[in-house]
Amino acid sequence: MKLAVYGKGGIGKSTTSCNISIALATRGKKVLQIGCDPKHDSTFTLTGFLIPTIIDTLSAKDYHYEDIWPEDVIYGGYGGVDCVEAGGPPAGAGCGGYVVGETVKLLKELNAFFEYDIILFDVLGDVVCGGFAAPLNYADYCIIVTDNGFDALFAANRIAASVREKARTHPLRLAGLIGNRTSKRDLIDKYVEACPMPVLEVLPLIEEIRISRVKGKTLFEMNERSELESSSNNLSQNFSTNIQNDYICSFYLNIADQLLTHPEGVIPRELSDKELFTLLSDF
Ligand code: ADP
Ligand code: MG
Repeated sequence: MKLAVYGKGGIGKSTTSCNISIALATRGKKVLQIGCDPKHDSTFTLTGFLIPTIIDTLSAKDYHYEDIWPEDVIYGGYGGVDCVEAGGPPAGAGCGGYVVGETVKLLKELNAFFEYDIILFDVLGDVVCGGFAAPLNYADYCIIVTDNGFDALFAANRIAASVREKARTHPLRLAGLIGNRTSKRDLIDKYVEACPMPVLEVLPLIEEIRISRVKGKTLFEMNERSELESSSNNLSQNFSTNIQNDYICSFYLNIADQLLTHPEGVIPRELSDKELFTLLSDF
């Protein structure tokens, strides 16, 4: 199963992607996460460092695919999740779609593309031009990360339009929205009422998630570490941290379990910009 996680820049796509990847691996799946954001930090909390990008590796080898080995571009991450960073096109030139195309081509050459139960593409979605829509060509499901604000829902609506467009020629469905970093969901609910699609989860702003990013670890790894520490010095503080982290991990496990049931998903009918402005404004 191939998943494409989209959303506005900074909304929490990579955080959500990494934790979903581990949740799917926890359920026994062989998972590859491919960062398709020029920011190339998608897999940072899985590996703990910025891995070399496909595009940098390819250009260092003059695009001689035969000189590249799987270990040059595929890095093992936490929980057994394999990690790839596509990288970005040269700033102001080139095309994100080309980069994704080269990445998939190389993974096929390396016999890696069909090796996995799950491939998760982590893609930015502010623009969703033809290039940034490219991962949708490979995906069975699109997942959109949003908060409860206008900008992220505006991006979500454009991504929904891209899914509708691609679904004309590909067996692609929108699995649904994930609300992130928000305790309120009134605008999300208004949006899905007007443009029906499932809401898979809504996660609040969680200090532990912010800290886990700073430490270069996912929440699952932070949880395992504090479990190890609490077994050695048995602090009640660690115990309550674990309960809190278990609670947060359960959000991601719930999303993974929903995806593993191969949900029907939807082909969305996006709103016009005018409809969206009217729907989400107070006046
Ligand atoms: P994106 O991949 O969409 O650009 P990131 O996943 O890198 O966004 O997240 C941006 C920042 O927000 C990171 O510092 C991350 O730790 C933080 N973050 C993401 N989700 C949450 C959350 N639910 N609670 C608190 N901080 C979060
Ligand atoms: Mg990211």
